[in-house]
Amino acid sequence: MKRVYMDANATTPLLPEVMEAMRPYWMEHFGNASSIHLDGQQAHAAVDRARATMAEFFNCHDAEVVFNSGGTEGDNTAIFGMLHPGDHFITTSIEHSAILAAAERIAQRGTQRDVAVTFVAPTPSGLIDPADILRALRPETRLISVMLANNETGVLQPVEEIGKIARAASTYFHIDAVQGAGKIPIDVRRFGCHLCSISAHKMHGPKGIGAIFVRRGTPIEPLLVGGSHERRQRAGTENVPGIVGLAKAAELAMHSLEDGTIDRMGKLRDRLEAGVLQISGTGVNGAWDGDKPVPRVANTTNIWFDHLEGEALVIALDLKGVAVSGGSACHSGATEPSHVLMAMGLNKTRARASLRFSLLRTATEADVDYALKVVPEAVEHLRAISPVAAGTAG
Ligand code: PLP
Repeated sequence: MKRVYMDANATTPLLPEVMEAMRPYWMEHFGNASSIHLDGQQAHAAVDRARATMAEFFNCHDAEVVFNSGGTEGDNTAIFGMLHPGDHFITTSIEHSAILAAAERIAQRGTQRDVAVTFVAPTPSGLIDPADILRALRPETRLISVMLANNETGVLQPVEEIGKIARAASTYFHIDAVQGAGKIPIDVRRFGCHLCSISAHKMHGPKGIGAIFVRRGTPIEPLLVGGSHERRQRAGTENVPGIVGLAKAAELAMHSLEDGTIDRMGKLRDRLEAGVLQISGTGVNGAWDGDKPVPRVANTTNIWFDHLEGEALVIALDLKGVAVSGGSACHSGATEPSHVLMAMGLNKTRARASLRFSLLRTATEADVDYALKVVPEAVEHLRAISPVAAGTAG
């Protein structure tokens, strides 16, 4: 049976070039990048080259790139490394759980002078209004953290405007760019942020590796202590093959932004979306702000289907060979509807009846054709047998 993978926001496969770039660093050049002998120096040189590529990717200096294990670590580092009791922290209610759970932990540490956290809600279109960030500021606000692109809706947040607010308020600013990286250009100078987290596996690189940009002079404490790796900002023997893979994935991502690949992916997403919207009782979450289109990454569409249960549709589509997600991957299996869609004001029934389609950079016309054949059939079948259609679900 044909398989069409439309869950790129959960993870992506390695591109062959990434695999090839990593290959020598598992066996031939296996050295520890901290060792002074030739084997170590080969590994060290590979890490240096990767750092230079990542500096280009972020538009920053080499010394501002810290390799880590991915988005969760970057997000946790920003929060635990920057905030102290008595500080105020502003984030949003639509962040990934790597931010939300860290914010909740730091707010509940149990002393009299905990970190106070404000969770700014989105507009119904899934956008964070910079005016709401401005309103949330307090004299003791030390850090603002806002994602670049939402993992469920793909909505791009106005980070440049938020960066200006942070600068005017002399507050530090972290961007979780995990879902934006590889889909739009990352430019930490233009964004005006001090910290920026990315993860390789969302852009056709390996899992368990990522990087955080730390602007020179940002007073961040390391999450992991031990050896003096990464200029004492992240202890632990460098994952050299992973670092090489991340840099190769970043290099390919930069090309794909210039050679039309991302535009092509956007056209495929638009065709998929338009085709699915032909089905009655459907609509897009986070596409319109009044009569203005909401900026979104090119690969994502989040669609509600009246009179059916999203999880049932995910399973039905999987059985037909189409992989999609009903909410973020981290929540799959949970019965609670998506916190992102709920924060946007959807009712529970509609939030549960929403599906995320997120295309790989390698998606083809044939993939979209296949999905457009299978999705209407599955929806029709489920609606015919669905208790939601019969009005029994609230
Ligand atoms: N931030 C966002 C917006 C994400 O979508 C994800 C992964 O789903 C993460 C952070 C976590 O990244 P990682 O899987 O590299 O820990």
